[in-house]
Amino acid sequence: MKKVEQNDSIFSQTEALADEHWLERWLSKGWVRKILGTLSKDRPGGIGSHLERALQSYGNKNAPQRDKFLYWPIHKIMERIKTDVNNPEIASQISEHQWASRSIIAFARSINRYGLTVPQSWSGPLFLYWDFTTKCNLKCGHCYRKDRQDIEDELDLKQKFQLIDQFAANYGIMVIFGGGEPTLSNELESCIQHCKEKGLYTSLHSHGGFLSTERCEKLKQSGLDYIEVSIESANEEYTDKYRGVSGSWGKSIDGIRNGIASGLNVGMSMCVRQDNLAEVKATLQLAQQEGVCQFTHINFVPAGQSKEQMQIDLSPIQRKELMELLAEYRNKGNMGIASTAPQYGIHCADSLSFCGHSFRLEEKLSRVIGKYLGGCTAGRTSICVGPGGDVTPCVFMPERIMGNIKESKLIEIFQTNPWRDLLSERSERQGNCGSCKDRYYCGGCRARAQNYLNRMDHSDPGCILNQKLWSQLHGSNGQATTMQVDQQKELLSNFDTPSVRGRNIGKS
Ligand code: SF4
Ligand code: SF4
Repeated sequence: MKKVEQNDSIFSQTEALADEHWLERWLSKGWVRKILGTLSKDRPGGIGSHLERALQSYGNKNAPQRDKFLYWPIHKIMERIKTDVNNPEIASQISEHQWASRSIIAFARSINRYGLTVPQSWSGPLFLYWDFTTKCNLKCGHCYRKDRQDIEDELDLKQKFQLIDQFAANYGIMVIFGGGEPTLSNELESCIQHCKEKGLYTSLHSHGGFLSTERCEKLKQSGLDYIEVSIESANEEYTDKYRGVSGSWGKSIDGIRNGIASGLNVGMSMCVRQDNLAEVKATLQLAQQEGVCQFTHINFVPAGQSKEQMQIDLSPIQRKELMELLAEYRNKGNMGIASTAPQYGIHCADSLSFCGHSFRLEEKLSRVIGKYLGGCTAGRTSICVGPGGDVTPCVFMPERIMGNIKESKLIEIFQTNPWRDLLSERSERQGNCGSCKDRYYCGGCRARAQNYLNRMDHSDPGCILNQKLWSQLHGSNGQATTMQVDQQKELLSNFDTPSVRGRNIGKS
């Protein structure tokens, strides 16, 4: 990672890093780094760090007078930052939501530990993607899970609570419950409730088929913040056939309606591939009609069992056109539009997009924050825990196991991640992802590089700037072909051997 030092010339090195905020100058000073360490350090007796107390007492009428007086200088700095954030939603969240305070503390601790770096090296994960269960009743072709049945070594409730406690103790901010189908677990609500008791933001990714009115009420009562229901298209017949279960489309729509009626924040997501690309506009319109707060494009990543389905992937041109379409809908302003494709941020320079959520900011500020968040989150700001406790950088890299939470603490696994530098470092990447001006905002999908090229540090073949790479893999006409797996493997053998700096479990 490029370390930002005082008077460093990094700010003018590339066009992409030219945007600068006054706070960066301060945060890169050695003495500020030390102060941040002192302020964010845990204090004995569970009374919270100074920074935590300062954030809790900011704009809080009920805060002790002593705190208001003691932390007045910090409150003045926060006032100044808030006026720079030209977005009332974000500005209010800085002081009103625990998850926003937690992210500030995590940033302070990370600067203390690693200095200010681009992208930022984080001392703990901010986002926990939790594949809560392997079980699922649908049979979608793009799913990375081979087996959708119970596993014997699934975490028990005590271990699940310990995971949440460990994540919260290191200032994680958001837990994303996925699967399998997480609503098939009867421990889901208990875990959501436990997350809320720890001040974490909770997001649930479901196919929506089991979201009855009663279940939605239970989820609401547990404190769930957001639910995203996946749908393959606006076409009922097609979706049922693709999922292999008749009536599943209708159940997803019912689930969305029940969720909204229960007062939950409901989004809709769609994994876009060759077979449903033509359905995107109709699905966006469906999302608007149903009144969801957000539409999320899930970027197809060939992984696990879907590694043998590379032919359904979008070509770089199709992906670029899709990003443009999403940005167009986003600008209409009727609902939030997010994408898990790291290239999306380049098409929405005034948007910070992460974990299926996106926020609009003033363009320059968005680019300043964006370069520290650093695009692809795998193993940097996010971490994935599987149903049996295996920890990987991303759900789409099931073979890259960093450890298991039954054997080690989450924070130890995160901090000793053998691929840490490889996932963070941008300038040493192979091909265009190493030199492109947007590499600090996008970084390319590391799982796509891993699964296509067996190297996490190679370029993302789905980007328009890596069209040549795509043509080598999929054929010279730039469109995805129905290439057979053995042909694919032959082509892959032309690339370098895997850069394995850590434990690479299983066949990759
Ligand atoms: S070349 Fe890589 S870093 Fe640059 S935009 Fe494309 S995927 Fe992102
Ligand atoms: S590797 Fe990065 S961009 Fe790709 S899916 Fe995982 S977190 Fe997202």
